[in-house]
Amino acid sequence: MSAVTLAKHRPRKFWGWGYDDDELTAAEKEGVAARTRQLAGRDGLRLGSAPKTADFDLRRPRINPPVALASRFSTTAHDRLLHAYGRSFADILRMWMRDVPNPPDLVAFPETEEEIATILGWSGRNNIAVIPFGGGSSVVGGVEPAVGDSYAATISLDLERFDKMHEIDRASRAARIGAGIYGPALEDQLRPYGLTLRHYPQSFQFSTLGGWIVTRSGGHYATVKTHIDDFVESMRMVTPSGIMESRRLPGSGAGPAPDRLVMGSEGILGIVTEAWMRLQDRPKFRAGASIRFADVFAAARAVRALSQSGLDPTNCRLLDQDEVAFNHVGDRKSPTLIVAFESADHDVGPWMARALELARDHGGRTDDGQETSDGSDAAAVWRNAFIRMPLWRDSMIGMGIIMDTFETAITWNRFEDFYNRVKHEAAAAILKATGRNATVSCRFTHVYPDGPAPYFTYAVLGSDSGDLKSVLSRWVEIKRACNEIVTRLGGTITHHHAVGRDHRDGYDRETPELFRAALAAAKQRLDPAGIMNPGVLIDPIGRKIGQTGALRA
Ligand SMILES: Cc1cc2nc3c(=O)[nH]c(=O)nc-3n(C[C@H](O)[C@H](O)[C@H](O)COP(=O)(O)OP(=O)(O)OC[C@H]3O[C@@H](n4cnc5c(N)ncnc54)[C@H](O)[C@@H]3O)c2cc1C
Repeated sequence: MSAVTLAKHRPRKFWGWGYDDDELTAAEKEGVAARTRQLAGRDGLRLGSAPKTADFDLRRPRINPPVALASRFSTTAHDRLLHAYGRSFADILRMWMRDVPNPPDLVAFPETEEEIATILGWSGRNNIAVIPFGGGSSVVGGVEPAVGDSYAATISLDLERFDKMHEIDRASRAARIGAGIYGPALEDQLRPYGLTLRHYPQSFQFSTLGGWIVTRSGGHYATVKTHIDDFVESMRMVTPSGIMESRRLPGSGAGPAPDRLVMGSEGILGIVTEAWMRLQDRPKFRAGASIRFADVFAAARAVRALSQSGLDPTNCRLLDQDEVAFNHVGDRKSPTLIVAFESADHDVGPWMARALELARDHGGRTDDGQETSDGSDAAAVWRNAFIRMPLWRDSMIGMGIIMDTFETAITWNRFEDFYNRVKHEAAAAILKATGRNATVSCRFTHVYPDGPAPYFTYAVLGSDSGDLKSVLSRWVEIKRACNEIVTRLGGTITHHHAVGRDHRDGYDRETPELFRAALAAAKQRLDPAGIMNPGVLIDPIGRKIGQTGALRA
């Protein structure tokens, strides 16, 4: 068994976002302290130093790896901790609590599909649960080895060695890419060809192509090609029952599509090892502007008009009055729409001009008219907040602040009532759980002709005394309430953060029971021993796993 870490990447923080040596700047530290004072009414709680591997007394591995592949496995504390949780609020808090009851027994770093097949076969014979791991940026408990009591052990199977750009088909503008590649490496290898996948989730730096595909991730772009689904041409998946590979086609009407079964499967059917992805030429023409409104619903009507105009802006991010205040955008009080266009082929000025007309029709105002290229100050402030937010959040958690988000989607005809009720009911749930008033802010991450994807954020002091157990139980109460609110009011449990373990209650509420039974039957065919990521999405037939992870009662 290896005594040294097998991970190829620059060492990552096992307990939070970023690399081991990523730090907040002095100005950011001051910003976090000021925000904490604002929420706590005084200096935040000092919870001591950030977690170190020596702080954890991990359960000893319950199994040894298969002898023939022993060199592909690690049992170092760092590797087991890095693979014990994703990066949700509860994951980071539990690291601060030094609370890791379910570390993977082993972490596997296979290099070939044959090795994956061997590991899956061995795991099936030995009743070992296998948790696929891409970048580990799941915020829904997707990579947590909390699998109930019926398994002998757990393995986290890390795809980082499946990180090759195998081939590029310039004529069809597509590439065959390893599923374990991280976002920046993927784009770096396409750049010399003038190509891009153009899929930028906020977690881009620490998430992988395979993770995006199986969670149906949402990129940064607001309209048309929002989810990774739109870019998948074909893919390969190693399952316990063999390899499933789909055919490269630009389109097909041949029955239910195999890729549709795999996209969103969150590791319960098998391990995606590579995919042919549709690419785009890198954009050359850009235009952007930020537009202020007096009223959030007037702004939403402008967004609806834009989304139904066929202009298809690349960015169409509406920040409500609370979101601009929280992120210090613009005048910090007016709902603001950040809109942008880009193209590899044509000047987008006329599109921008028409978008501004539509916005003005609904009362929108720009200070300085249309702006080009990098856009306005508001856009720049917003972008910086967007990129640095995960690091700020980790520090605030360390000071006892509960800071979390939840996202959904709803049709336009129900939007206004939905927005009011979600904000009101979520704030009431936070007050009930913590005894404190909190503002629930909202922005649109994506918009469609038939409705927006609202994304809600809140922050509140979790405990006066620094008792982290009660911070966790308060978060659990709020999380359960928000899951219930958005699905009861007709939204989806997730627009792009996946289901994992933490959204299972909402997934059960929003999907037909017959569909889940059909999915379980498909899983049984591909994964007869029920070892693939148990506890996520559905229970394997013949096992009762139910709620595991952070929300387990
Ligand atoms: C700060 C932050 C910002 C985020 N922003 C966004 C965003 O903008 N858009 C968005 O969509 N999501 C976002 N997320 C959520 C997360 O990044 C996505 O769900 C992402 O797609 C996960 O990719 P990953 O490689 O990290 O997968 P992981 O977290 O490693 O795994 C996610 C799930 O996929 C499974 N899995 C991973 N790789 C494979 C594979 N090759 N084969 C089979 N199963 C596999 C895992 O078992 C798990 O169930 C964010 C998360 C954080 C922490």
